[in-house]
Amino acid sequence: MTDTDLSTKYTRVVKTSLGQWVQAMVVKEPLAATPQIHWKGVGRMLPVRALPENVEQARRAALKDRRFFRQCERCNEVRPVSLILEAGVCMDCIHKMQAVAA
Ligand SMILES: [Zn+2]
Repeated sequence: MTDTDLSTKYTRVVKTSLGQWVQAMVVKEPLAATPQIHWKGVGRMLPVRALPENVEQARRAALKDRRFFRQCERCNEVRPVSLILEAGVCMDCIHKMQAVAA
């Protein structure tokens, strides 16, 4: 996935009368059949009239925030932190490894 794909998938922008707020996806109970998706604000609120490129920049910066996102050590994809499981490896990779081992 490109950075733009990642920021579209894992961040969103909430516009209020006070400004634009970049929020990061937080996945609760990732192992459940229906994981819960929450959104948490990241960083400072951007001005109401912030330029689209500045908003995009803030979304990409959010993807680098290790409180919210980590990179899988195996496939190098950035994912919400709760989807990175044992030893810095993401859920998808663990499933693949288990499939190979079985
Ligand atoms: Zn992975």
